[in-house]
Amino acid sequence: MNLLQAIFKPIAHVPKYQSDGAAIRDITDPEYVVIPLEYPGQILFKPEVKAGDTVCQNQIIGRSSLGSCVHASISGVVKEIKTIWTVRSFNVPAVVIERNDQPPMSMDEMFERYGQPFESASTIQKLRASGVISSWTTPGRFHLEADVDEYPEVKHIVIKGVNEEPTIFANEKLLEENPKMIVQGIRLLRDIAPRAVISLTAPPRLVEWAKQQFPDLTRVVGIGDEYKDRIERLVVSRVTGAYVPNTMPYREKGIGVLSVEYLLTMVDALERTRPFITKCVTVASCHESRSVTVRIPLGTPIKTILDRLNWPSKDYARILVGGPMKGIAQYSDETPLTKSSHGLFLMTDDCVPDETVLTCINCGCCTKVCPINLQVHLIGRYVEYNMIEEARRYHVEACNECGLCAYCCPSHRPLVQLIRMCNQSEK
Ligand code: SF4
Ligand code: SF4
Repeated sequence: MNLLQAIFKPIAHVPKYQSDGAAIRDITDPEYVVIPLEYPGQILFKPEVKAGDTVCQNQIIGRSSLGSCVHASISGVVKEIKTIWTVRSFNVPAVVIERNDQPPMSMDEMFERYGQPFESASTIQKLRASGVISSWTTPGRFHLEADVDEYPEVKHIVIKGVNEEPTIFANEKLLEENPKMIVQGIRLLRDIAPRAVISLTAPPRLVEWAKQQFPDLTRVVGIGDEYKDRIERLVVSRVTGAYVPNTMPYREKGIGVLSVEYLLTMVDALERTRPFITKCVTVASCHESRSVTVRIPLGTPIKTILDRLNWPSKDYARILVGGPMKGIAQYSDETPLTKSSHGLFLMTDDCVPDETVLTCINCGCCTKVCPINLQVHLIGRYVEYNMIEEARRYHVEACNECGLCAYCCPSHRPLVQLIRMCNQSEK
């Protein structure tokens, strides 16, 4: 691309996708799963199995120092514990289980093995034993497991009934498919945090329905269909009135944020139904404006999901875990999906962006599109020339990594990566 073409390239708009309107599909169990034992900087599970062990679905296979657990998502034989590359390109230990179709372990036995029978376990112990992600059990991004007990009382809880990415529909489908369980879940949240204001976000088409389903239980907040209306940090700010920058955990400000999917796993755990062993993932491609949502056992490799859908991975030049705005490109289709993988976005050769980075032409598009009005072009240039302190004067910590600036930049500058480098460099 030459400079003139770059200047006159129209600003691209984030494409709009539609849910396929169908129920969430279960895929047949994979031949094997790969369950990571570490989320670097956040949580480390000590393995409770070894190569050659037979394990049942639901069985605890790893445990953290605070008693949070990770489970076998299928029954089978532990083939090995080896290091793998995760979605976020960390090299971590993982348990590989080859399927044998034996029946699952009962929840009572799972709790017995945990060392705390269900009847006498506290709510937090039940959630930790079941591997549930909530603000009360395991850390989120940027905070450690050990920090969890030190945060202030939760005053606001935001339940996300809308996914942030324009191609992911798992939360709104789960919202629509499980109103009774969601009522149970909200009541559980009230027990855990009795003084908290609870809000539920919903897409426009489900707002009136949600108000009827959950009267007096929660405040329903409609979220627009445009990507800029769905950016999580800004949604939480609108709902709670508190802006929490990307570099700070919500809990530091007394806010709990969890998705409808995690709320349902809480209900499953506290009703003794099952531990957190499956994940809903929306699969979409750059050429289809429709998408499909599937339920997979945790640890299923990307390739297996695409094979089951008959969308072979060899047809795609790039596979992102996530959506088109914040998704992470994968080196391999063998990467297993985990609790924080919400979608796959498949790109063919013709829609992979040109990776030639040009100089900034001062067009101002990045600053114009930034939802929090950062001077993105200046920040990008300062970081590029290693002028980190100068860049910090422009409040880089407020960036929510929404990707809109990079999406519209005609020079294809890696603006989000530059901002992330700045935020992660030592002060
Ligand atoms: S960095 Fe911003 S101002 Fe510079 S070319 Fe890209 S969009 Fe335009
Ligand atoms: S990613 Fe870019 S557009 Fe989004 S908040 Fe950060 S600087 Fe602004």
